[in-house]
Amino acid sequence: MDNNCLFCKIIKGEIPATKMYEDDDMIIIKDIEPKAKNHFLCIPKSHFKLLVEMDEKQAEMVKKCLKKIPTLEKELGLENGYRLVINQGDDAGQTVFHLHIHILSGQKMGWQPA
Ligand code: AMP
Ligand code: ZN
Repeated sequence: MDNNCLFCKIIKGEIPATKMYEDDDMIIIKDIEPKAKNHFLCIPKSHFKLLVEMDEKQAEMVKKCLKKIPTLEKELGLENGYRLVINQGDDAGQTVFHLHIHILSGQKMGWQPA
């Protein structure tokens, strides 16, 4: 946990968020500024910024996230397809430095990120 990290604060319940799912490894919340009809963030409960920094335990958490997301088809509106995005660093426009998986759904999307 990082005391200055927005997502660590959301995980600890210090900042409110609309929770769609939670277990020991992850939290899934609604994005506050949706970039598609449905926009959620799956946040592993371990603080790290980049995939290149990820240790084995964190990789296991990310694997659990990737296995869990498709099971929440109804809750996340994934029935007609969906897009997962992980922004990494400056060029990608990463603004929160705690790794998270964007889940975009509910509309047709072009190749440009929605
Ligand atoms: P990224 O640019 O990939 O780092 O994504 C950060 C995401 O966090 C953006 O899509 C923001 O809209 C979202 N965000 C920022 N603050 C909050 C918040 N308090 N609750 C939910 N989502 C947030
Ligand atoms: Zn964090």
